[in-house]
Amino acid sequence: MKNVPEIFGSLVFNDEIMKKRLPKEIYEAVQKDVEQGVTLNLEVANVVANEMKDWAIENGATHYTHWFQPLTGTTAEKHDSFISPDGKGNVIMVFSGKELIKGEPDASSFPNGGIRATFEARGYTAWDPSSYAFIKEGSLYIPTAFCSYTGEALDKKTPLLRSMQAIEHEAMKILKLLGNKSAKSVVTTVGPEQEYFLIDKNVYLKRPDLICTGRTLFGAKPPKGQDLDDQYFGQLKTRIIAYMADLDEELWKLGINSKTKHNEVAPAQHEMAPVFTTTNVACDHNQLTMEVMKKVAEKHDLVCLLHEKPFEGVNGSGKHNNWSLATDDGENLLNPGNTPAENAQFMLFLAAVIRSVDKYQELLRISVASAGNDHRLGANEAPPAIVSMFLGDDLQEALDSIETGSAAETHKKTVMDLGVSVLPKFNRDNSDRNRTSPFAFTGNKFEFRSLGSSASIADTNTVINTIVADSLADFYEILKDSDDIISDVMMIAKQNILSHKRIIFNGNGYSKEWEEEAAKRGLANLKTTPDALEHLLDDKNIRLFERFGVFTKAELEARYEIFMENYCTTIRIEALTMADLVKKKVVGSVLSYEKELSEIVLNKKNLGITCELESSLLEKISVLADEMSVRLNNLESVIEGIAFINTTLEQGKYFKDNVISAMGELRETVDELETLVDSKYWSLPTYTDMLFSVL
Ligand code: ADP
Ligand code: MG
Repeated sequence: MKNVPEIFGSLVFNDEIMKKRLPKEIYEAVQKDVEQGVTLNLEVANVVANEMKDWAIENGATHYTHWFQPLTGTTAEKHDSFISPDGKGNVIMVFSGKELIKGEPDASSFPNGGIRATFEARGYTAWDPSSYAFIKEGSLYIPTAFCSYTGEALDKKTPLLRSMQAIEHEAMKILKLLGNKSAKSVVTTVGPEQEYFLIDKNVYLKRPDLICTGRTLFGAKPPKGQDLDDQYFGQLKTRIIAYMADLDEELWKLGINSKTKHNEVAPAQHEMAPVFTTTNVACDHNQLTMEVMKKVAEKHDLVCLLHEKPFEGVNGSGKHNNWSLATDDGENLLNPGNTPAENAQFMLFLAAVIRSVDKYQELLRISVASAGNDHRLGANEAPPAIVSMFLGDDLQEALDSIETGSAAETHKKTVMDLGVSVLPKFNRDNSDRNRTSPFAFTGNKFEFRSLGSSASIADTNTVINTIVADSLADFYEILKDSDDIISDVMMIAKQNILSHKRIIFNGNGYSKEWEEEAAKRGLANLKTTPDALEHLLDDKNIRLFERFGVFTKAELEARYEIFMENYCTTIRIEALTMADLVKKKVVGSVLSYEKELSEIVLNKKNLGITCELESSLLEKISVLADEMSVRLNNLESVIEGIAFINTTLEQGKYFKDNVISAMGELRETVDELETLVDSKYWSLPTYTDMLFSVL
C-alpha cells in the first residue's frame, strides 16, 4: 500500500518545507512576495536559493533549471549544475539568489513574432514565487516567466499572471462596494480535465504519421469503433490500471492533485481530472501533467497521444476548463446559494460573465484555435465553433424571474444575505447537464469545453480573466456612487442579462438548427483557426488587453503572427508527411497486391478458368490507384504553391482552403484502397490494430 500523504508533494519545495527550513523572517518575506508582490531583496533571495539547493541535493538533484512556457505552447528548460570550482581542483555546490531570480537564456530560437530584433537575442526568465519549485529527473525546476530584453512577454505565463492581477483588482473593488470586509484577495481557480489516448508502442512505431504529426493521416473506418458505447466509464484493462497507478504516483510526488480517472468515449481514450487550484498553478500543473503522461507511458511500452484528433471517425480529445472565482477566505463567488435570484452579489458576477462571453465571443474562440482542434470543434463530438452559454434550469428560472421583475419584491431581503461569506448550498443536481454547450454553468463554476487536449490552458484563462475583469470594471464605474447599492446591482444584472441573452442557449449545440438560429442572433461562427485569428487584432480586443495591461498591441501582433504561422507549419508538415507516406508505403502495398492479382488473372486466363473475383478487384484497385496518383500530384503542386503566398493571413487561408482539401481528397482514395488491399501487403497498422492494441 502506498502512503499517499507521504508521497504527495515529496518533490516540491512547498510551503511546509519552506516553513521548516527557512528562517522565520525569510519565510515571511517570501510569503509577502507571493501575496502582495513585494519583491525579495538579494540578501533574502540568497538565503532562499541556498536552502532550495540544499534541499534539492538531499533529494538527488545536481542541476537547476529555469522552467518557462514559450509561445510554442510547451515548456522549455536549460539545465545548469550547481558545481563551482573551489580553485583547488574540487567543486562546491552553489546556487545564488541572483541565479534563482533571473536567468538570461539565449532566446533567439523561440518564437517571438517579430518582437525581438535579431541582433538582440537575449531574453530574461524571472522567478515566479507563486508556483512552487520542484525536482524532476535530477534537476531543481524553478517556474519562471520569460520576456524579451525590452520587457515584452514572450511566454504564456506572464499574460496569465497579469490577467489574474486584473480580475483580482476589479473583483475586490466590487466586493468592497458590496460591503465585504473580510476578503483580502480574490483568485481565479481552475480544474482542467485532461483527455488522452494510449496505444501500444509497437503499433505506434509503425505509423510515421503518428510519429511526425501526432495524428493518423490515413486509416479506414474500423468495423468496431465507439458505436457500442462500451468504453465510456468501462472497466480498465490491466495495463491501463498499471499505467494510471504509476501516473498518479508521479503526479502526486509533484504535488499535482490527480483525483479522477476513467475511460472516455472512444476506444483507447482516457481522462484524468485534478482537484482545482489557483489558475497559475493549475496551468503549470497541466503542462507537467501532459509531460508526465507521455513519460510514464514510455515505461509501460505505451504511447500517450495528446493530439486533438488522432483518429478520424472516433472522438478526439479535449480539455474541459472549469473556472471560478474565490476569495482568500474561501467564498466561491459563483456559488448561487439557495435563492440565486435574491443573491445580488452572485447575480452581479453572473451577469459579468454572461456579458463578457457575449461581448468577446471571438476571443474565447481564438483562445482554443489550433490546427488540431479544428478537427473537433463543430464536428458533433465537441462543442460547436459557435460560443454560447448554458445555465441549467434553476439558474434560467432565476434569470427569467429577474427579467420579468417577479423577483423585484424580494430585493430588500437580500441585504441581509450580503456580507455573509459562506452561502447556503445550491442544489447542484438540478443543474441539468448539457454536454453540447461550450460554456456551461455547472453548479458553482463555469466549464469551458472547447479547449483542445494538447493546448496550454494559459491562453484561455488569460482571456476569461481579462474579459470578466472588463465587465466588473464597467459595472464598478456605474455602481461606485450608488446610494441604493442592492437595487442598483439588481438593475445592472437585469440590464446586462437582457442585452446579452442571445449568448444563452439551452438546446442541442450540435444541431443544424442551432447554427441557423445562432446566425440569426448574430453570434460569431468562426469555423477554422484562420477565420478566428483574423479577429485577434480587432480594435475592441486590442483596447481590452491594453486597458488591463495584459497585452500591449505589439505583444498581440506577435501572437497573431506566431499562432498563424504555427497553424500553417503544422499543416505543412502533415501535407509533406502524407505525400511521403503515399510514395514510400501506400504505393508499394498497392503495387504488390496488383502484381499478385494480375499474375493470377493471367494464369487463370491462360488456363481458360474464370477469374471474375480477381479481375474485378484488380480493376477497382487500378481505378483507385490512378485516382490516387492524380490526387497525390495535386497535393504536391498545392504544397509547391505555398511559396508564392505573401501575407500571414493569405497563407493561413491558403492552407485552410487548398492544402486541407487536397489532403482530404487523397486520404479518401487511400482509405478506400485500404479496404480492398490484402492486409499482408498493407504496411501501415489499421485503426483496429491501433485502437485495440492494448489488451
Ligand atoms: P465532470 O467530468 O462531470 O465535469 P469532473 O469531476 O471530471 O466532472 O471534473 C470537474 C472539475 O472541476 C475538477 O477538476 C474539479 O476540481 C473542478 N472544479 C470543481 N470546483 C471548482 C471551482 N470552484 N473552480 C474551478 N474548478 C473547479
Ligand atoms: Mg469529466
